[in-house]
Amino acid sequence: MSALVYTPKEDLIPIVNNLRQQFNTGITKNITFRKQQLKNLIRFAEENSEAIEAALWKDLRKHKMECGVGEISPIVDDCHFLIKNLDKFSSPTYTKKRFLMNAADKTYIRKEAKGVVLVIGAWNYPINLLLMPVVGAIAAGNCVLIKPSEVSQHTAELIARVLPKYLDERVYTVVNGGVDETTILLEQKFDHIFYTGNGMVGKIVMTAAAKHLTPVTLELGGKSPAIIAPDADLAVSVNRLIWGKFFNNGQTCVAPDYVLITKDRVEPFIEAVRKTLIEYYGDEPQKSGSYGRIVSNRQFDRLKGLLDHFDQKSIVIGGQTDRDDLFIAPTIISPVSPNDAHIMQQEIFGPILPIIPVEDMDEAIEVVNTRDHPLAMYIFSSKASTYNKILDRTSSGGVLVNDTLMHLQELSLPFGGVGPSGTGGYHGKASFDIFTHERSTMVKSAAMESLNSTRYPPYTNDKYKL
Ligand code: NAD
Repeated sequence: MSALVYTPKEDLIPIVNNLRQQFNTGITKNITFRKQQLKNLIRFAEENSEAIEAALWKDLRKHKMECGVGEISPIVDDCHFLIKNLDKFSSPTYTKKRFLMNAADKTYIRKEAKGVVLVIGAWNYPINLLLMPVVGAIAAGNCVLIKPSEVSQHTAELIARVLPKYLDERVYTVVNGGVDETTILLEQKFDHIFYTGNGMVGKIVMTAAAKHLTPVTLELGGKSPAIIAPDADLAVSVNRLIWGKFFNNGQTCVAPDYVLITKDRVEPFIEAVRKTLIEYYGDEPQKSGSYGRIVSNRQFDRLKGLLDHFDQKSIVIGGQTDRDDLFIAPTIISPVSPNDAHIMQQEIFGPILPIIPVEDMDEAIEVVNTRDHPLAMYIFSSKASTYNKILDRTSSGGVLVNDTLMHLQELSLPFGGVGPSGTGGYHGKASFDIFTHERSTMVKSAAMESLNSTRYPPYTNDKYKL
C-alpha cells in the first residue's frame, strides 16, 4: 500500500555534510540564483498541479478546490512576492549612528543566509506546510534539507520524485523517512530547524536543537476557540465557522476546536449549523466530493474514541463513522462542559465540534484563559467594543474576527503560535526573516586617529574628561 521509500539511514549524514560543503561554496547566496529557484518552484507547483491534487486525494480525499486554496496557490503567491521583493529584503540596512566616535564610520545590517536548514513538514497540508518554509529558506539564501511527513505518503513520494527535477539538487535535498530517520537528522548540526507538527514532537525537536544551540521555529497546534458573541450575525457566523471547521475534514491546525456561545443562542445555533451542513455536504456527506477523509486508521481510532464517550443525546448532529472509508460525519456535540475529561483535554483535529454554553462573554474569556494559549482564536461579533474586550483579555498566536482560516491566506500577516502553540511566525517577509541572520556590521575609517587615540591606554584624567 505504501508508495513511500525511505531514504537509507546511512545516506543521511553524508547528505547533511554535502549540503554544508555546498553552502560554503556560496552558490545559494547569489540573488539571481535564488530568484531562479523560486521561479522553478512556481513551475513545480503549476506544471504538477494535477499530480499534486491526485496525491492529496489519495492521502486525504482533498477536493481540488481545497488543494488550490490551501496547498498550491499560497506557495505560488509567496514565491511571486519574494521574487518581487528580494532585492529590497536582501539589501543591507544602514543604521543611524548614535555614538560620536563612530561618526565617520559605516554601520549597517547585512542580511545573511543562516546556512544549512532543516524543514520538517506535517501531513495535514503536506505541500503547503513543507514548501512555504522552503520558499523563505531559498529566498534567504540557505541550503535546505526537506523532510515531508511520512503519514501523507503519496504526497511525500511525489515530492521526493518530482521536486528535484525543478530545484537545484546540489543545495536542496528531499529526504523521506519516519521517526528513526528524523531522529538521525535531528542529531546533526543545522543552522535553523523549522518544524510543523504536534507539541510533543515539538519538545523533541527543541531538545535536539538545544544540544547544538540551533535556533528553531515551531509551528504547533492547540485548541483554537470560536466565540460567538450575543451581537454576532448568527447566519453569517455559522456559514464561515462551518466552512473553516470542516475544511480538510477538521484536520487543520487552526480549525475551530470548540464553540463558546451564550446559552440562549445554543438552539438557534445548532439549527443553523444543521441547515448549513446540508447546504455544504448534502444529506449524505459520505457521498459528497467536497467532504474529506481522516488521514489514517490511527487518527480515525483516536477520533472514534473521543466520540464513544458521548451518548446519542449529546451528539446532536452526525456521529456516523465508517472505518473502511476513514469517514466520520460532520459531528456536533452539545452541551459540553469546559472541563470534559476527553474532548476538552486534547486538540480534536477532526470533524467533531463541541459546543460549550456560557452565561456571557466574561465566562467565555475565563474558559479560554484556563488553558494554553491557542494557535488561533475566532471571535464573531458586530461590535468593536465586544471583540476588543475579548482581545484585550486573552492571547493566541493569531486572531480573526468574523471568519475562520482566512488570516492564513493573508501573506502580509506572519503566521505562528505563542508558547505551547508555537514559536516564530512566517509567510511573506516573515519567512525571509526567519532564515536570515541580521549581521551587525561596522566599517571603521582608518582616519581620525587623534580622536580615536583618546580611548587607548594609558588612561589619564584629561582623556577621561573627553
Ligand atoms: P506528523 O505525524 O506528520 O508529524 C510531523 C513531523 O514530525 C513529521 O515529518 C514526522 O516525521 C515528524 N515526527 C513524528 N514523530 C517524531 C519523533 N518522535 N521524532 C522526530 N520527528 C518526528 O504530524 P502531526 O504531529 O500529527 O501533526 C498534527 C499536529 O500538528 C496538530 O497538533 C496540529 O495542530 C499541528 N499542526 C500545526 C501547524 C502549524 O502551522 N502551526 C500546521 C499543521 C499541523
